[in-house]
Amino acid sequence: MLPFRLDAGLVRGRLVRLGPALDAILDGHDYPAPVAERLAETITVAVALAGALKYDGVFTLQIQGDGPIPLVVADVTSAGNLRAYARFDAQKVASAAGGTIVARYFGKGFLAFTVDQGPDTDRYQGIVELEGATLAECARAYFDRSEQLATEMVLAVRAPEGGSGWSAAMVTIQRMPLGPRSPIFTADEADEAWNRSILLLRSLRTDELLDPAIAPARLLHRLYHADGLATDAARPLAARCRCSAERVRGTLRAFPRGEIEELKDEYGEVVVTCEFCKTSYHYSATDIDALYSDETDAT
Ligand SMILES: [Zn+2]
Repeated sequence: MLPFRLDAGLVRGRLVRLGPALDAILDGHDYPAPVAERLAETITVAVALAGALKYDGVFTLQIQGDGPIPLVVADVTSAGNLRAYARFDAQKVASAAGGTIVARYFGKGFLAFTVDQGPDTDRYQGIVELEGATLAECARAYFDRSEQLATEMVLAVRAPEGGSGWSAAMVTIQRMPLGPRSPIFTADEADEAWNRSILLLRSLRTDELLDPAIAPARLLHRLYHADGLATDAARPLAARCRCSAERVRGTLRAFPRGEIEELKDEYGEVVVTCEFCKTSYHYSATDIDALYSDETDAT
């Protein structure tokens, strides 16, 4: 993710490009193509929304609806670690037709995010109904309503073709409030600069946006070199789940032992699979005894 500014800070933006991180997340699942595409879009939107906030912890974007894909979750940590998963109804996904992408796959629902900065901190939350033909439009609606910042965004996702991997890209720009007496712009000049940055963004072709041969800084330079472009340090992103044997033990211990015993499979083991990364954690009968016999040292 490459943050940038235009016109002396009147416009703030971010360019997000994702490739191998999407492969790492999506390859672990066997999602039907439309589900994988919606998940790739959601991850990209999550990175762009998270990039607009200052936080130290976990940003989580959820899309919930009554359509063939009732839930999509994407996490972005402040360290740049990504993970995501989707729940879907395979039959409904296969027969989904008509309407906009959002209506067809998510139905009626909402887009919500939380920012978790650890215990003893307030959770920052935002929620907006799914109103828009695309996820980018739904995300823009959030900014328009909740943040009251004019926002424009373009989003493109390309599924693997002939062996090459996933790629996704998104550019968002936001108009920042000017001080009462901006030394640089009159109100009319500011309007003009903002409108120009929108027109330039809309001129971007999908193939340029996604082309790995055009480095992010070069892409922005092409677009905004005449508009006082300044870029900040790029922030790397990678697929990395936060699950661990220790966290799973903590989760199991939170349930009464009777309920955990009922989860035992034919081998007498309890197997817990992380929905995000599909890692399986196995607990034998002995492990479960240990889990409940000594809460202070279950390792
Ligand atoms: Zn995991």
